[in-house]
Amino acid sequence: MDGLVSIDFEQPAPRAAGGACSTRHAWARVPPEPSRAERARLKERIRELLVQQQAALMAHYYVHPDLQDLAEETGGLVADSLEMARFGRDHPARTLVVAGVRFMGETAKILSPGKRVLMPDLDATCSLDLGCPAEEFAAFCDQHPDRTVLVYANTSAAVKARADWMVTSGCALDVVRALTAQGRKILWAPDRHLGDYIRRETGADLLSWDGACIVHDEFKALELELLKEEHPGARVLVHPESPPDVIALADAVGSTAAILSAAARMDAREFIVATDTGLLHKLRTLNPDKTFIAAPTAGNGATCKSCAHCPWMAMNDLAGIVRALETGANEVHVDAAVGERARVPIARMLDFTAALKAGGTAPGITAGIGAA
Ligand code: SF4
Repeated sequence: MDGLVSIDFEQPAPRAAGGACSTRHAWARVPPEPSRAERARLKERIRELLVQQQAALMAHYYVHPDLQDLAEETGGLVADSLEMARFGRDHPARTLVVAGVRFMGETAKILSPGKRVLMPDLDATCSLDLGCPAEEFAAFCDQHPDRTVLVYANTSAAVKARADWMVTSGCALDVVRALTAQGRKILWAPDRHLGDYIRRETGADLLSWDGACIVHDEFKALELELLKEEHPGARVLVHPESPPDVIALADAVGSTAAILSAAARMDAREFIVATDTGLLHKLRTLNPDKTFIAAPTAGNGATCKSCAHCPWMAMNDLAGIVRALETGANEVHVDAAVGERARVPIARMLDFTAALKAGGTAPGITAGIGAA
């Protein structure tokens, strides 16, 4: 297919030296765990700084449990990228601290250009974002001018600025169904597994970019089947960024929010979860009487680039939040013109999902809105 690119990632894990592969060995700068006393001191300092600076802490489900708990305790939010985007826009705080990856900070800034947006580490990125450079993506779009351009939240501001719609895994199916009902053909980027899943579920005419999430791409179907045999009563919950043979084994497929909802709703006692292990904290907190097992990434054909935990999410730590709030370091800036253009597809998604929530069914898409 024209315009598609493959991205290789280096993995300097010390397997040859006999060490077990873990996110700590991945190429991102994963900070060391603080001592118990240091952790308590850092948390207290963050509480003070958030109040002093009228700041709100937003944490993604995949970051360290300490950050998730602190966000909730201080009146901030733990959520997926869709809810983080909405919360940051609507919150009266003057400063938003985004514990997640770069595109989440950019989205917060795009939706709240008047607020200061800080991150613990600006180098926390995402393989999907890295694998979809704006210029190459624009050339891909130019080759297919008849298609409505949908991009995943996990993209740079510049890629969003080239899109008609931004979606998250929580609303992608609804948006594509509504567009397909209007006879639109879709150009999708960057996650190929999520693109395939959307195509299968909606029947959309969907042309996909060839990106992948280094975490979800590594779940292994054969090993998952073996694990299911060991836990015959367990239900399998899978994020749609996973390979199709893993999705085929799922009892429920969906975004992090959908996985949380399925775990609460289903009456099983055991669940095997194919998404970043960061979500296990919330799953276990909300369902103390249920058991959650991480889906396997090791085994036949495994490269163990992530070991089911995103190395860039793991760059977020308490010390980074303190540093950002004390010094103003790691402020997110988005070019004003790019931000203005990127706000259009994000706002379209937020309006669509708000209408969906209010009406209970997918709203129609106004003719001419979101046209390629
Ligand atoms: S878990 Fe995957 S999709 Fe999420 S930030 Fe990490 S690399 Fe990107």
